[in-house]
This record gives sequence, C-alpha cells and structure tokens, in this order.
Amino acid sequence: MATPATAVMWFRRDLRLRDNPALRAALSAGPAIALFVVDPALWGPAGAPRRAWLSRSLRALDAALDGRLVVRHGDPAEVVPAVAREAAAGSVHVAADFGVLGRRRDAGVEEALRGLDVPLVRTGSPYAVAPGTVLTKQGEPFRVFTPFSRAWAREGWPPPVHAPRAPRWVELPSDGVPAEPELDGMQLPEAGEEAALARWRRWRERGLGAYADSRNRPDLDGTSSLSAHLKYGEVHPRTLLADLAKHPGESADRFRTELCWRDFYADVLWHAPHTARAPLNQQVGAIRYDTGPAADAAFAAWAQGRTGYPIVDAGMRQLRAVGWVHNRVRMIVASFLVKDLHVDWLRGARHFMHWLRDGDLASNNGGWQWVAGTGTDAAPYFRVFNPVTQGKSFDPDGEYVRRYVPELRGVAGGAVHEPWLLPGGLPAGYPERVVDHGEARAEALRRYEETRTGA
Ligand code: FAD
Repeated sequence: MATPATAVMWFRRDLRLRDNPALRAALSAGPAIALFVVDPALWGPAGAPRRAWLSRSLRALDAALDGRLVVRHGDPAEVVPAVAREAAAGSVHVAADFGVLGRRRDAGVEEALRGLDVPLVRTGSPYAVAPGTVLTKQGEPFRVFTPFSRAWAREGWPPPVHAPRAPRWVELPSDGVPAEPELDGMQLPEAGEEAALARWRRWRERGLGAYADSRNRPDLDGTSSLSAHLKYGEVHPRTLLADLAKHPGESADRFRTELCWRDFYADVLWHAPHTARAPLNQQVGAIRYDTGPAADAAFAAWAQGRTGYPIVDAGMRQLRAVGWVHNRVRMIVASFLVKDLHVDWLRGARHFMHWLRDGDLASNNGGWQWVAGTGTDAAPYFRVFNPVTQGKSFDPDGEYVRRYVPELRGVAGGAVHEPWLLPGGLPAGYPERVVDHGEARAEALRRYEETRTGA
C-alpha cells in the first residue's frame, strides 16, 4: 500500500485543536505538520496587545501539540512552499481567510504552491456562516442587519467536529514562538484554547442567564469577554452556537444575535473591501472633520482618557489597562470622538486597532462606521450619545468609572458622572471638560445637515 503523503496544516486564525474542520481534513490526508508562519507584514504593524496575545496563544497551541508546532518567520508565499517541499507534502490545509490582506496573501501562496503541484485546500472559516454566503433573494449582499440575521439563521451551520483522536504529527525544525512585546503594565487574561473554553463554561454558568439584562452594564461581568479568543480562533462560534441551543431563552437569543453581528461585519467587508479605509456611505462620509493642532490636542486628551467626561475617560483608560473595552463604552467613546470632538472616525478606529487585544478589522470598522453614521444600519446622524446620561444609565453607581479613574475614587455613587457639580469642586488631578457637550452636539448636527443638503 502506498504511504499517504504528508499534509501541512497551516494555522492562522484557528489556533485550536477542537472543532477544527481544516485540521481534520489535513490529518485525514496523512500525517501532518502543524505550521504557523509569522508574517512580518502582519506582525510588524499589529499593536503590542495583539502581538502579545498571539504569542501566548501560539505557546498554548504548541503545548497542546507537545511541542510540535513548527513556527517559521517570513513571507508565507515563500515559507509555505518551502515547508511543503521540505516535507514532501501532498497538500496544504487552511481555514479560508476572508480578510482583505488574507485573501491576497492566500492567492499568492496558492500560486506558489501550484508550481509544486500541491493544492491549497480550504476547509471551513472563522465564521458560523462564511462571508459572501448569505444573499438577498435578488442575489445581492445585505446592507441591513436584521434581514441578514434572519437569512443567516436560516442558512444554519454544521455541528461542531471533535478534536482528532490519534493525530500523527511530523516534526520539523522550528524558529520558535516569537517573544512577547513589552506591555507597559497592560494586564491580559490567559490566551489559548483551554482558557477560551474555561472562560466560556464559567460565564455560561454564571453570566449567560442574565445577558439580556446585563450586557449593557460595564460595571458588571455581564458579557462573555470571548472576543479575543474568537478573533484568534481559540474557540469557534459554531461551538458556542451549539451550546446555546442547549440553553434556550431570551439571553441565548441575544448572544446568538451578537455572534451574528460578527459574521455580518465580515460579510460587509468581504463585499466592500474598500470600506476598510473609507466610508460605506460616501454622502455622510463627506462630513467636515477637524484637523490641525487643536484636533490633535483633542485626540490626545481622548486617547489618554483626559476629556473631563468620566465614562469616556474610564473607557479610554480601560483600553490601555486591559486591551479591551465594554461594547456600550466603545459606542460612547467613539461617539465622543466623532460627534463631540469632530475628529475623523478612521483616526479613532486606528487607535482602537492598535490597543485592542480583540482588534479585528471587520468588527472594528463596522462599529466605528455605525457610530459615525457612515456604515450599514448606521446610527441616525442625530443620535449623539450624551456621556452623562449614558454613564448614569449604564454605570448607575459609578463603579466602572471609579475602577479606571483613580482621581474620582473618593466620589460616592452616581455623582461620579458629573464631578463638576461636586460641592468641593473637581477632585484634584481630574481635568476640566474639553468641550461643552451641548455645544459640540449642535455643531455635529450642523455638519451632518451640510452633508444632507450639500451646503
Ligand atoms: P459579548 O457581548 O459577550 O458578545 C459575544 C461575541 O459576539 C463577541 O465576543 C464578539 O465576537 C461578537 N460581538 C458582540 N458584539 C458585536 C458587535 N457589535 N460587532 C461585531 N461582533 C460583536 N469587536 C471585536 O471583536 N473586535 C473589534 O475590533 C471591535 N471593535 C469595535 C469598535 C467599536 C467602535 C464598537 C462599537 C464595537 C466594536 N466591537 C469589536 C464589537 C464589540 O464591542 C465587541 O465584540 C465586544 O465588546 C466584545 O466583548 P465580549 O466578547 O464580552 O462580547
């Protein structure tokens, strides 16, 4: 009997062994090499939190593979064919990448492999339903979330697959997992498949039941905190969706909807890759933003969490402290940058991508464009988040603000959201408000009106 050819399993955003159809496909083809390529084009520009997360996730994967992860550094179009040649591989297996750069990279690798007569086999994707699959009856992409979500649920997804039972791995020399960058005090939770599943199980037991009510409360552990685990594919959304089906109810429905937003934004970017850097709605996108030294100073105050608006400052400091921000607060701080400080959303999106541990081009872009009014399902342009009422509604006792803004720790209860009203004046060290929210809002509305009337 002919010996089966070796296969290469090229891991990318799927750093797990369970529920990994591409891995099963690789191992069913023959003994496999577990490969990860550190691509300088992606590693270089990524912020320290994402590089640190990736490095930890790779260490966890390597441990799960008993040290057999083969890490190589370089351009995948050179490295992957070189590894295939070294191992006399018959196929290279991946989960399809639908990102803007990932598609281009994979086309280059596929082309280079063709020269060796080795196919690049795509099995599965990082999404429940792959981008480009869900279309309207007319065969068009959806531009609005709710009908997309109905069609997405009708499309459905296959049940999770088991981890391979007796995998046969081929060992090759490895350059080793890249070192973690300096994090300047930022605290990241544990990365990797085991940590992702442990977090999910713990939160499913303690948090999921209340999700419908508590998901908007940044002061509570009200959301799953799985976004970075999902981003690196340490857990697949399909695993979560299968589990949710066993816990029916309003909260499970709500959580399923959030996972659908992730697929939706990937679908939007797949159909309109130019929106990675440009507004989807060009009319609203033509709004006047401030530039120059005053805008730079306003941006710096926002980025440092020194705007004088406590919920905004807490959010921006949470970003730097843990590389993650609660969804409600992401909307508040994004609205503040765009509609109170009149700074281009793209600048804010880049700052988020740099500091977020879950920084994901599609979800980040979708979130920012929603807030700026330039995306799908855009928040109506006249919706300007009021940082005081938002703070009082969603952080009623001020716990969240006090956790991240030490200057305000001496202020009790919800009064922390309006420190300028305190009888003793602003607590020492806490800044004055950089703008008057009412005036800034009126100015934003004037500018949005200009885009409507073309004035
Ligand atoms: P949960 O509430 O537990 O939700 C479960 C999962 O559903 C999340 O992990 C995430 O994968 C997905 N999800 C939830 N809400 C959204 C959403 N609105 N859009 C897309 N997917 C969603 N999410 C990222 O993963 N990466 C980003 O870079 C990112 N940038 C954002 C920027 C802005 C301005 C806004 C408003 C939102 C952004 N989001 C981003 C979406 C959302 O804020 C995060 O996914 C969520 O806060 C992650 O926390 P969680 O895992 O506890 O979420």
